[in-house]
Amino acid sequence: MSLIVQKYGGSSVADPEKIKAVARRVVETFRQRHRVIVVVSAMGKTTDSLVALASQITPNPEPREMDMLLATGEQVSIALLAMALQSLGVPARSFTGAQVGIFTDDAHTKARIRKIESDRVAQALDSGHVVVVAGFQGVTLGEEITTLGRGGSDLTGVALAAALKADVCEIYTDVDGVYTADPNIVPDARKLARVSYDEMLEMASLGAKVLQSRSVEFAKKYGVPVHVRSTFKPDPGTLVTREDRGMEEAMVTGLTHDRGQAKVSILRVPDRPGIAAQVFGALAEQNVVVDMIVQNISRDGYTDISFTLARGDRAKAVAVLEEVARRIGALGVTHDDRVAKVSIVGVGMRSHSGVAARMFSTLAKEGINIQMISTSEIAVSCVIEDKYTELAVRALHEAFELAKERPAD
Ligand code: ADP
Ligand code: ASP
Ligand code: MG
Repeated sequence: MSLIVQKYGGSSVADPEKIKAVARRVVETFRQRHRVIVVVSAMGKTTDSLVALASQITPNPEPREMDMLLATGEQVSIALLAMALQSLGVPARSFTGAQVGIFTDDAHTKARIRKIESDRVAQALDSGHVVVVAGFQGVTLGEEITTLGRGGSDLTGVALAAALKADVCEIYTDVDGVYTADPNIVPDARKLARVSYDEMLEMASLGAKVLQSRSVEFAKKYGVPVHVRSTFKPDPGTLVTREDRGMEEAMVTGLTHDRGQAKVSILRVPDRPGIAAQVFGALAEQNVVVDMIVQNISRDGYTDISFTLARGDRAKAVAVLEEVARRIGALGVTHDDRVAKVSIVGVGMRSHSGVAARMFSTLAKEGINIQMISTSEIAVSCVIEDKYTELAVRALHEAFELAKERPAD
């Protein structure tokens, strides 16, 4: 008898009818004599509404209270789904993150899972129940409620699958798999039958929100097979798994874009040892995570430093840096919220040359200026003006011939 973890995202449980449809789908799996753990997100855009609600009270809510608030969304869906399952005659029981022993550190709003004490889930499964678990939430050893970062229900699913050695973690969502680019932006994007953990990890961390990047990290670490598929259609989706030989043939597997970025520059910084350490040290102290960094060539002993970061952290970063700029004698701090990052991803880049050059010339042909560039072994990213994002993604999708059928898939 196999154990299957199924995770349903917010759009899949957005209203009572959808919850009933999810219940029918779960029952189908249960009736095939599988043991089933279902992880659910908050209904529809509930989490966004809760964030907005908090911002109407204060611009700087305490992270502990934020988690207390955000965790309520998932608690609504688990209870409703358990009721829907019970009314179809299936024994089901709902549990919060704390009840199923998902222990995290105390980094509120982006907590990391430390351990899972899964006895309670195992007991409920043994007694013939479908186990319904609230995604996105955990608890500290001090019994504080935490959340796992936006999109964190994916991580709950994968982590439970790893802890209980499930056969597969199925991620049910509003698209039927992982595509060569966001199908909502590129209409001829192609569904990938398989994608490697490493590629999926790059795609997720570079903006493809179909899977939370930490969930992919976790899946890779524990070798959990992840199957991304549609809640509304029965077709098989995309298998995220270990790299195999067929995968290496494609030069570029997918494209991503991230419109949640901002760029900050410190102007006329004295060019001497220790300055970058002071600038980025001050940001790290405030838990600001910096993405790309560019330092210009020095002129007359001064240089400019620019970097990108999550737009939500921009105000905090500018405030910190204005103070640092005064201290080190820099001219000042500027910022730009109208930037986006577009990236190409593929393990094939390891063995093909000229991939980055093709990306740059494609953007040039469209008249799109590249403000920053960064590369890793299997990805190249460019920061561009936000208004060109869709144009850039579509042009790159065509330039790398991603819409065409490839024998490897
Ligand atoms: P859920 O609520 O089910 O967790 P998300 O909104 O988090 O769903 O993720 C699904 C969305 O991810 C899709 O609607 C799609 O717009 C977006 N997406 C971005 N890049 C990709 C990609 N490469 N393949 C598939 N979907 C993608
Ligand atoms: N409800 C949470 C969010 O919107 C977690 C999730 O959906 O995965 O981020
Ligand atoms: Mg999601």
